[in-house]
Amino acid sequence: THSKRQKVSRSGYRSTNDDTILVQYHYNSRPKVDISKRGESKIIFMRNFNNWVKSVLIGRHAVRGGTVLDLGCGKGGDLLKWKKAGIARYIGLDIAEVAIKHAKERWRDMKVRSTIKNKGRKFVVEFNTLDCFSFPLSTKISRTCEFDVVSMQFSLHYAFENKSRARMALRNITSNLKQGGKFIGTIPDANWIVKRLKALPKDELAFGNEIYNIRFEQKETFPTFGHKYWFWLADAVDCPEYLVHFRTFERLAAEYGLELKYKKRFHDVYNEAKDEQTFRELLYVMKVIRENPDDGEMSEAEWEAAGLYIAFAFEKVR
Ligand code: SAM
Repeated sequence: THSKRQKVSRSGYRSTNDDTILVQYHYNSRPKVDISKRGESKIIFMRNFNNWVKSVLIGRHAVRGGTVLDLGCGKGGDLLKWKKAGIARYIGLDIAEVAIKHAKERWRDMKVRSTIKNKGRKFVVEFNTLDCFSFPLSTKISRTCEFDVVSMQFSLHYAFENKSRARMALRNITSNLKQGGKFIGTIPDANWIVKRLKALPKDELAFGNEIYNIRFEQKETFPTFGHKYWFWLADAVDCPEYLVHFRTFERLAAEYGLELKYKKRFHDVYNEAKDEQTFRELLYVMKVIRENPDDGEMSEAEWEAAGLYIAFAFEKVR
């Protein structure tokens, strides 16, 4: 039970509000190993596909021997992808302390199974809890650290509750990002979501299929920030989210020296990358496509849900 009022910390930054607490609670309640990873989930192919898209994005932007900041890193599910991309230092931050505990355990297990050296280099990994949309990064990491890449996978949209949180996100993304460094991420495609909402009969506010559901509270006004909806994904998510009005995001990002270089729907990332040899092989390695057709394939419902997302990349030009 938390007070309805936003608290202001001694440093003057607003601490987490009710919706943020819901999001935090939701991600803290996630089991250590998702049902979706046990192979019996309805979204196993979609989960693998989303991981493949992230691998494409990471593969294209990682700098060998470089440093990475992962905001909203969850249980550290991308750690192996970054390790494979040959980076030297990884810092993951998330608001959910239970997720961070699991991430630390994952890293400990990885260290036991292999060496901490990554392609001959030392691989340094840190995880920490932080509400990255309320507090500046400097409260958790040293200012001397500069990043080649900042990554936000399926997490930036939680910042679009209001402008000040979106600004704090962008401040944290860019404050330690090198000139020429990249900011990569994945978010739901607000454009597609709003099109679906507008196509609904007059009194209806929800759409989806057997694996996902999106429910709005109203459709009279379309604010650029705080446009809330409830998102449910089988075996994965059930919490409030906010539309990321992309043009607004791009304009705000420009104020922080970021220039958009790449933006594609997941379906188009697939069409573009599936014939490149490395990524083609990865489709099989990551079990997006099974060698043996008897082992199943992605359902129509999963493909539709995967089409909800876009991948993007910005460069810090100023
Ligand atoms: N990036 C991970 C991945 O791709 O598997 C996790 C994605 S999960 C859908 C979204 C994550 O964003 C959750 O772990 C959640 O706790 C985190 N998150 C939400 N609001 C946050 C905030 N204010 N600060 C830091 N992390 C936040």
